[in-house]
Amino acid sequence: MKIPLLQQAYSAEDFRKRGHQLMDELADHLDDKLNAKSPNAIHWNEPEDELRFWKEFLETGKEETLFSEITKRTTYVHHPHYIGHQVSPTAPITALSGTISSLLNNGMAVYEMGMAPSAIERVITDILCKQIGYDTNSRGFLTSGGTLANLTALLAARKAVLDHDVWHEGHSKPLGIMVSSEAHYCVDRAARIMGLGDQGIVKIPVTDAYAMDVSKLEICLEESAAKGIEIFAVIGSAPSTATGVYDDLQRIGEFAKAHNLWFHVDGAHGGAAIFSGKYSHTVAGIDQADSVVIDGHKMMMMPTITTALLMKDGTNASTTFSQKADYLLTQEDHEDWYNSGKRTFECTKNMMSIHWYTILKIYGIDIFDEFVTHLYDMGHLFGEIITDHPDFDLAVPPVSNIVCFRYKNDALDLASLNKLNAALRRALLEEGEYYIVQTKLRGVHYLRVTVMNPFTTEIHFRKLLDKIKGWVFDY
Ligand SMILES: *Cc1c(COP(=O)(O)O)cnc(C)c1O
Repeated sequence: MKIPLLQQAYSAEDFRKRGHQLMDELADHLDDKLNAKSPNAIHWNEPEDELRFWKEFLETGKEETLFSEITKRTTYVHHPHYIGHQVSPTAPITALSGTISSLLNNGMAVYEMGMAPSAIERVITDILCKQIGYDTNSRGFLTSGGTLANLTALLAARKAVLDHDVWHEGHSKPLGIMVSSEAHYCVDRAARIMGLGDQGIVKIPVTDAYAMDVSKLEICLEESAAKGIEIFAVIGSAPSTATGVYDDLQRIGEFAKAHNLWFHVDGAHGGAAIFSGKYSHTVAGIDQADSVVIDGHKMMMMPTITTALLMKDGTNASTTFSQKADYLLTQEDHEDWYNSGKRTFECTKNMMSIHWYTILKIYGIDIFDEFVTHLYDMGHLFGEIITDHPDFDLAVPPVSNIVCFRYKNDALDLASLNKLNAALRRALLEEGEYYIVQTKLRGVHYLRVTVMNPFTTEIHFRKLLDKIKGWVFDY
């Protein structure tokens, strides 16, 4: 059989040629976006139009323009006007480590399929554990996203806390977790996947400042017990996604300890504050957590998707998915930390550890402090600008780089203001110069900014507000 297509697809020379060309194009893209040479953070298209384009492109598009069309038709996370969702503008070096991972494609489930990245994963998760304040009994691993990591942590919690072995014997009584009503929806989803149902997801109300009202923990636990629900874990958000407000990890940790509950910290967004000299106080108490989730692709400048799940007691990391009785595992001569698939939900994963290691090796650990501290500073600055502005209102004073605000006008009722703010956000999206998002808090429609780009400045903030204000008169 002739295999001309395969020969072409696997040609090293073809790869070299296209690779050089693509790197040049991406470097130009980066230069253009970082320096805001072109104004837009997004060129918005309606989904149906985009779908039509790509159907046609497959038939008639010019191959040479494939990569540039993809680039053009995405959201420019490196543009300083990109202040929307929480994914990082990647440190460009990690696009290079990403290329290594994609080409070498070691599947990582077993050590043999990724010797370097497996050992590297141990190095970097040990560094993360140490930074959290854990001792050497701790262990961590990397997995594909905060969503999966939260589910994995709750599975570990269930295994570690309950006398009853649900993994082997299934459910025999109603179980539950406690989490703030402002937690990321993936915690709710994880609990449902674990069969906890509505009643097993005990939502703790939040304070006026949108942090978990820890004074309600005791009564909620008692109410659950009265209903026959065995609570096994309590989860703190660090911070919660919508508002960027941190729960009081210290107090949640004390509560969990007093009641023999697993204490999990969802630090997908802001767990990285452990690296910030100025903002590590936001995660005070994190060292008491039994498990911590930190996303590399949010506050640590890495490409999607790479998440660290760190556990205070490393044994719990290795028994979550154990098919055999746990005593067999503990009887092993040594812990096989290097076979990652035993700990992770997924089997194959990408060589994600090399992003973390590359940043550490090339720039050093202080870059994480700079990134988190600067962006949180900018979140505070944006908050101050809003506070001083007569036409805008904050939902809550920012404590991180997430800021919820809205246009205000005392002459309008809530429904009209909600409609107006939703329309303003829609107009921003369609125009595309700035990319911001939105959220609803207690029935109030807010515009939401996450300062993710270190090169977004006060001038960008002020121009955004001027633009919004200028449009208000059209509505
Ligand atoms: C983003 C986020 C998640 C989900 O993480 P993914 O990596 O997107 O799966 C979970 N919890 C919090 C608090 C988050 O901000």
